[in-house]
Amino acid sequence: MIDFTPNEAQEAIVTAARQFAARTLAPRAALLDREGGFPRESLAEAAELGLLGINVPEELGGVAAGAVAYALAVVELGRVCASTTVALTVSNMVAEVIAKFGSASQRELHVPRLCAGAYVVGGFALSEAGAGSDPGAMTTRARRVDGGWRLSGQKLWITSGTDAGLFVVWARTSDAPGTRGISAFLVDGDAPGVERGRPEHKMGQHGSTTTPLSFHDVELGDEALLGDEGEGFRIAMMALDGGRIGIASLALGCGLQANDVARDYALERTQFGRPIADYQAIQWMLADSATEMEAARLLVLRAAWLKEQGQPFTREASMAKLFASERGYAACDRAIQVLGGYGYTREFPVERLLRDVRVTRIFEGTSEIQRIVISRDILRRFA
Ligand SMILES: Cc1cc2nc3c(=O)[nH]c(=O)nc-3n(C[C@H](O)[C@H](O)[C@H](O)COP(=O)(O)OP(=O)(O)OC[C@H]3O[C@@H](n4cnc5c(N)ncnc54)[C@H](O)[C@@H]3O)c2cc1C
Repeated sequence: MIDFTPNEAQEAIVTAARQFAARTLAPRAALLDREGGFPRESLAEAAELGLLGINVPEELGGVAAGAVAYALAVVELGRVCASTTVALTVSNMVAEVIAKFGSASQRELHVPRLCAGAYVVGGFALSEAGAGSDPGAMTTRARRVDGGWRLSGQKLWITSGTDAGLFVVWARTSDAPGTRGISAFLVDGDAPGVERGRPEHKMGQHGSTTTPLSFHDVELGDEALLGDEGEGFRIAMMALDGGRIGIASLALGCGLQANDVARDYALERTQFGRPIADYQAIQWMLADSATEMEAARLLVLRAAWLKEQGQPFTREASMAKLFASERGYAACDRAIQVLGGYGYTREFPVERLLRDVRVTRIFEGTSEIQRIVISRDILRRFA
């Protein structure tokens, strides 16, 4: 049986997200894009509303609304401000990964703080200069010392690197071949030896900082190890499965918003004495985007639903991310076309939506990597 009616918990968090987006994000989004910075105040308000722990158990400070509610809420936020939304999705991912793999004391110490915004947000530090699509090539290293670990190396492209109070950091803990020597650690962003680098100058998402993070012999206690030694790669891949649902939802939000702006404009703008919405060329662009975004929505919901049921969802999350990000970008591009010259200016939000959505085809696994994940699953099942 298929029922797409949101339940009470889903409705509540989606309404909270929609109202927060309209009240707090919408008036700030264009300025944040122009001036950059980091949306600390908006994220503090998001924490108060439960939006930093949407799919986190209540006893750990979350609202336990589930993975479907999470996806639906992120769509609403992504429509309005991708920058704030991406910091929020990464933080949710970090809270979920600690809730799932953390020891009792790690869960009790860190997850409520992440949900409450006490860490501002959480960060996810996997990528390096020489290890993007291939994180197994990382060189950041944690060496065993008396009573704990000493961490050294450099990460790159870390979302919220300027402000996050807690990072999950992946490091090599042995020379075991491939990905078997990688472990995950919980690292305080202000610990001695942690250096936050300068934010990258990016095409879009200007209100989300993306920085290098350097670790100069950072002393970590035994309690910093997340999961078992050598289990880090598996933890990263499982976290990214869930993260990809968030990025797909963000891309979907951008595509839906762009098509709404295009629809409104097409109904208002007249050329040759008629609203341009009367022209079939324009109608087809609106129809193609609406159809593709509906298909993306179904892929996102299916992946989220499988996750919520505790069933495998790796392939479905990759399909959702691949499709929603590629077609979300196409929807933003079409919206610019519908708006003509105005679409290319800052007077309308579609150029920002296009710049912001572009990176969803790159981070948390490029589109090419999603195709690898999907095809690997197809071939494994039928080999
Ligand atoms: C704004 C932004 C925020 C980010 N935030 C984070 C973060 O918070 N934490 C984090 O850890 N990382 C983060 N990243 C890093 C991101 O996940 C990587 O950029 C991404 O995984 C790609 O790695 P790369 O940039 O090194 O590209 P590369 O891996 O060098 O890829 C370059 C090209 O080669 C293709 N390619 C690579 N391998 C293959 C293959 N086997 N087959 C076919 N094609 C292939 C890729 O698809 C791509 O087109 C962020 C990146 C950006 C831009």
